[in-house]
Amino acid sequence: MRHSVGIVGLPAHLDRARRLRADLPSQVYLWVNAAEGHTYTDAEAAEWTALDPLFGYSRHPHRSAGLPCRTGASVISVDGDGTVRRCHFVPAELGNLYDGSYRAALRPRPCPLAVCDCHIGYVHLESLPLYDVFAGGVLERVPAPPAPVGSWSVGHTASPSIPLVMTSVAEPHVTGTESPLPRPSPPG
Ligand code: SF4
Repeated sequence: MRHSVGIVGLPAHLDRARRLRADLPSQVYLWVNAAEGHTYTDAEAAEWTALDPLFGYSRHPHRSAGLPCRTGASVISVDGDGTVRRCHFVPAELGNLYDGSYRAALRPRPCPLAVCDCHIGYVHLESLPLYDVFAGGVLERVPAPPAPVGSWSVGHTASPSIPLVMTSVAEPHVTGTESPLPRPSPPG
C-alpha cells in the first residue's frame, strides 16, 4: 500500500522528526505541516524544508477568497451521517451522500473564505500547482515521481465524473508517500 508519513513542524519535534526521516525508507515521503499559529523564521523553515522539500506550501496560509477551488465540483467532504459539504472548512451543506441530493449542487464555485490553511483544502485550489505536484496521489498526499530522481509508484487517476471524497477527520497526521521532491517555489 502506498503511504506517506506526516508530522507537525513544532520546534520541539525537530530532533525526533530527523530521526523519523532517517528511519523511514527513502522512498517514503515525510510531509511536515506548519504548526497552527506558529511563525517560522527563514532559518527554521530551512530546517523543515530539509526534511520535507514541499514544506514551503504549508508555511503560510494561502489566500483563497474568490479563487477557483475544485471542492464542490469534483471534490467533496462527507460526514459519517452522509452530509456533504464542499470541504471541511465551509459549513454550507450541499446535500446528502446516501440520498444523492448533493449531486444537483455540484458545480464550480469560488472559495468563500479569506484563506485556506490546510493541505487537504488548498491542495484543491486551482491557483496552486499541487495537482501536478501530487499527480496521481492528491488525496494520499503522495507526490508524483520527480523527473530525474527516484522510483515512485504512480497511483490512481481520478475520473473527472466521480468526485474525490475527503474524509471528515480534522487533520490527518499519517497518510502515505514515497520520497521527497525538489520543492517548486510556493506562491505567497
Ligand atoms: S480553498 Fe480551502 S476553504 Fe476554500 S473552498 Fe477550497 S478547500 Fe474550502
